[in-house]
Amino acid sequence: MVRLSRRQGYLIVLGLIFLFLLASSTVSTTAVIAGHNSNRPASVSLADVPVLNYHKVDALHHALSIPSEEFEEQMAYLSRNGFTTITPDALMAYLNHGKALPEKPILITFDDGYLDNFTNAYPIMKKYGFTATIFLVTSLVGHDERFMTWDQVRMMQQDGFVFGSHTVSHTPLTKLSREQAMDELVNSRKEIEQQLGSKPKYFAYPTGAYNLPVEELVKQAGYRAAFTIRYGQAGTESNPYALERIPIFKGQQTFRSFFVRLNAAPVLERFGLIRN
Ligand SMILES: [Zn+2]
Repeated sequence: MVRLSRRQGYLIVLGLIFLFLLASSTVSTTAVIAGHNSNRPASVSLADVPVLNYHKVDALHHALSIPSEEFEEQMAYLSRNGFTTITPDALMAYLNHGKALPEKPILITFDDGYLDNFTNAYPIMKKYGFTATIFLVTSLVGHDERFMTWDQVRMMQQDGFVFGSHTVSHTPLTKLSREQAMDELVNSRKEIEQQLGSKPKYFAYPTGAYNLPVEELVKQAGYRAAFTIRYGQAGTESNPYALERIPIFKGQQTFRSFFVRLNAAPVLERFGLIRN
């Protein structure tokens, strides 16, 4: 009985937070358009950082495929609201050494390395002066027409995009033997180094699956940090080998869902409802 009512209380609190955020979305959008958000205090030194996670920017019938127009709507929102995209290096310098970030930092990531990241997302991001970090599956990039070629990857790299590893074969590392998992981590790292000229420093877990032994292998393979698909923001209390992200999905109201997922994370953290 107690358990049930606590659960109900939790759901009610969550519901209220989401309702509040939904209600305030119109207001804040209006305020931004009217230009009333320019003099907010710059006191965000210890704030957590949102890390968005996308996969495809395309019109496929799939929750992980955001149509170009909707992706652009989201980038336009970030731009209007003063967000600056950062690199994982800047994020880690901030988390580890308190090195200052821009006032409203955001790290935008893509997993897998789909061709549409180059053809659809890249031009839109360039238009808004944004960059992203893309985690590549090295057996697919340059080998499968649904994925980018290495030339395309290099072109984006020259524009400030960062590339990390998402393994060789996209097998969840928790399903592999220690040796197999290490091969995935090391061989994808080598391939990216050969193609791009420097060792990738960051990793994203295929399907988000990880555990302590896997984290340890990622560290041993030489990566500085790893990203999960656990909902939340990256902060000084985060485990650098299990960094939270905010996965973005297509839905009936993609922008509203994007808005709520982006803006609810700090509120939920404040109430201790995520990351414990
Ligand atoms: Zn993936």
